[in-house]
Amino acid sequence: MKLISIIVPCYNEEDVLPMFYEEIQKVMDQMKQEHSELSFEMLFIDDGSKDKTLQILRKMSLQDQRVRYISFSRNFGKEAGMYAGLENSRGDFVVVMDADLQHPPAFLPKMYNFVKDGEYDCATTRRVSRDGESKIRSAFARLFYKIMNKISQTEIVDGAQDFRFMSRQMVNAILDMHEYNRFSKGIFSWVGFKTRYIEYENVERPAGTSSWSFWGLFKYSLEGIFAFSTAPLAIAAVLGAFICALALILLIFFIVKACVVDEPDLRFLAAMCIMSLLAGLQLFSVGILGQYLSRTYLEVKHRPIYLMRENEELYRARREEEDE
Ligand code: UDP
Ligand code: MG
Repeated sequence: MKLISIIVPCYNEEDVLPMFYEEIQKVMDQMKQEHSELSFEMLFIDDGSKDKTLQILRKMSLQDQRVRYISFSRNFGKEAGMYAGLENSRGDFVVVMDADLQHPPAFLPKMYNFVKDGEYDCATTRRVSRDGESKIRSAFARLFYKIMNKISQTEIVDGAQDFRFMSRQMVNAILDMHEYNRFSKGIFSWVGFKTRYIEYENVERPAGTSSWSFWGLFKYSLEGIFAFSTAPLAIAAVLGAFICALALILLIFFIVKACVVDEPDLRFLAAMCIMSLLAGLQLFSVGILGQYLSRTYLEVKHRPIYLMRENEELYRARREEEDE
């Protein structure tokens, strides 16, 4: 027997969860018919949803033995949700996918074929189009991947997603990375293993809304840069050296000029320019240092990545107590 764990992070997904459940059931039945050795568990992570997501999950877990869930004490973010799912999964293979059907369940049989014999450790999808996304957003996303791959040794594949079908071995490797500031696109790539990309066209959400604002995505991309590259530190240093050299040249130039023709206003202006340039540069460099320092600070605190408030076992136990 081979168990497949399907991990689904959910944040305010009451509108799509029933649809997702229906779709995934069809796919699981189909896979079971083709491969009789397969069994499934679904592990939903309720990431502190404010709508009826938890109520839906409770109901599903009572009706279907394959449904497990973990409900967080608050919203910890999708990264924490994925980590919790991986940590609590029991399967020989683990799937991570979104609840909003943007990761089509119909891909699962194909993905399984790649990993089942151990030829690949991971099968994942790659968006080749960004239809349904605004032009500016796509442009910034492209820019991010370009910069990221220039300055980081870890390859971040453009269009790669958190829709993954992984072997237990790869999951354990990911779980060995205990970092608090998690950037999964980097982590999946950092651990290595053989990954097979399946290309597909972007799918739009059937219901609900994306929880990513432009600003949120921007901060997430900075997270990626700071987590997987120390290049900004080097940039600050190089820029500092460059400006110092420039300031020195300018200084010499102005001293010579002041000796030859006396123009006090010009000198004042030049001094002001150089001073503010240097002050700005210093702040910029200190700011970059601060970014790394704050992340180091958060890491050394060893805070838990997520906190659970309820899962299906606790819920069942509580119901039984109430019945007695
Ligand atoms: N999600 C989550 N916690 C969050 C935000 C999102 O678990 O704080 C889940 C969400 O329910 C969905 C997945 O992460 O299953 C992807 O979110 P979304 O569709 O909003 O992102 P997008 O597809 O626009 O990148
Ligand atoms: Mg989505």
